[in-house]
Amino acid sequence: MTKDVLVIGTGISGLTYAIQIAEENPNVSMVLISKSDMKEGNTRYAQGGIAVVSNFKKDSFEKHIEDTLTAGAGTCDPEVVKFVIEEGYERVKELIEWGAQFDKKRKKLDLAKEAGHSEKRIVHFKDQTGQHIQEALLIKIKTYPNIELLEQHTLVDLITDHHSKEKVNRCYGAYVISQEEEKIKKITSKITVLSTGGAGSLFAHSTNPEISTGDGLGAAYRARVLMEGLPYVQFHPTALQPKVNGHTFLITEAVRGAGGKLVNMQGERFMVKNDSRAELAPRDIVAREIQKEIENQKEEFVWLDGSGIDKKQWKNHFPTILETCKNLGIELPEEPIPVVPAAHYFCGGIKVNKKSESQLKGLYAIGECSATGLHGTNRLASNSLLESLVFAQRAAQDTLLALRKKLPNKAFYNAIPQWNGDGYSNSIEIQEIKKYRNELQELMTKYVGIFKTNNGLKIAENRIDQIYKAINSIYNKNKLTYGLCELRNMVSIAYLITKQSQGITQNQGVFYNHDYA
Ligand SMILES: Cc1cc2nc3c(=O)[nH]c(=O)nc-3n(C[C@H](O)[C@H](O)[C@H](O)COP(=O)(O)OP(=O)(O)OC[C@H]3O[C@@H](n4cnc5c(N)ncnc54)[C@H](O)[C@@H]3O)c2cc1C
Repeated sequence: MTKDVLVIGTGISGLTYAIQIAEENPNVSMVLISKSDMKEGNTRYAQGGIAVVSNFKKDSFEKHIEDTLTAGAGTCDPEVVKFVIEEGYERVKELIEWGAQFDKKRKKLDLAKEAGHSEKRIVHFKDQTGQHIQEALLIKIKTYPNIELLEQHTLVDLITDHHSKEKVNRCYGAYVISQEEEKIKKITSKITVLSTGGAGSLFAHSTNPEISTGDGLGAAYRARVLMEGLPYVQFHPTALQPKVNGHTFLITEAVRGAGGKLVNMQGERFMVKNDSRAELAPRDIVAREIQKEIENQKEEFVWLDGSGIDKKQWKNHFPTILETCKNLGIELPEEPIPVVPAAHYFCGGIKVNKKSESQLKGLYAIGECSATGLHGTNRLASNSLLESLVFAQRAAQDTLLALRKKLPNKAFYNAIPQWNGDGYSNSIEIQEIKKYRNELQELMTKYVGIFKTNNGLKIAENRIDQIYKAINSIYNKNKLTYGLCELRNMVSIAYLITKQSQGITQNQGVFYNHDYA
């Protein structure tokens, strides 16, 4: 298959990018693939909403810029912060034109407040913002005849000069597994986009769905694409403990914004003594304080007390949380919610420029898998959906220009070989895969999680290196399977995070090593 554009990932970033292109030039041929069904990915689980300045009477771009820079602890790219925040409102208006609806109060957008924001500016749809946006985008995308959508298609590797006779440092598409057909296909394209999301599944507790295994990062690493800031993994302070159907369920920051209080087993509101902003301190601080309480008290969780929020507000603003807790036998608002910190967001990723272009020509990275400079070492709550929208539009504009230039012809793409190897098997169950995946998650949580030490990082590095070699050996001897494909990426990214963490000698943003405290 040869297309003008191949988009790998159908979250907010991939879908927005493709719609932006189709709106301007419906003749561009595109294929969008997703490893699971189109709806699965981090976008679907976003509860809080999009941080955007829309109430210009009370709020201003300057205030949002200031909040973002403060959260980033002086490590954000100020130029990027400025244009993302200034372009954000236009992008949200576009979303609304495309069919997304947000909660309103007296005909105006109902804005919520979240940790680290000096004003109410979070545009949301109840506590289902991401799901709602994605559904609207999926309805819209299906209206373009030149866009093909392929579910259950998994990126294996990017096609680069290595697979051709060229030496121009360019990407020519990707090899992908078709789970249903049980084969590896070659999809060539003039432009390739990675919008593959994060890698929260590297940790035992993560708010991300299981499929967030850093596949785009792994493929970029193998293609020698430059990455940045991988050790800056943001932990969300409040995920529900226990898991729900095997998934760690998030309790949005907006619950604390609405008056939820964190208390330990003694009923003590511990955030008050640790930070003047108490529960509304930035995420990294709240997550660390919760983790400290858990470790010091040898408990498994702390409580989030939502009794100060009235039942009507719970019903109107947090219906999913209300129902999920009810199913676990927790009656809100009277009873407190047991919460733990969980891996949530990758601040780092594939290094891109202001048009979301990576350093490999013809390859863009958008959304969570990219490192744009917006977040620096710590993301401000609800800035990531915003980042996806702004960079998707910028990448789309740049793609439209790039497609006008002279690019390789059909014969060139035809000459690129098919996948070299034994192909794909759906049926082989390699027992070791699950074992290594669990071990990797335990190692990352224990030694490369919220708190790190030099000794712990070394222990993790040594063991991850052994696992890496073992997985390579399985990869070389067996047909590729879906699980093996994920694990290959997970171990590479785990290794990179662990190795790069050892080079960081200053605690900044979400990064914390006890030896530098
Ligand atoms: C529980 C939760 C709550 C959040 N709340 C907020 C919030 O309120 N506000 C905010 O701004 N941000 C929030 N975030 C972060 C935000 O949702 C994500 O950063 C954002 O949605 C990422 O979008 P994306 O398009 O980059 O990736 P995703 O939405 O994760 O989509 C990734 C896509 O890539 C595909 N993919 C991955 N690997 C492969 C592969 N190998 N082959 C083919 N396809 C592949 C997947 O199938 C999927 O379609 C939240 C995240 C979580 C998990």
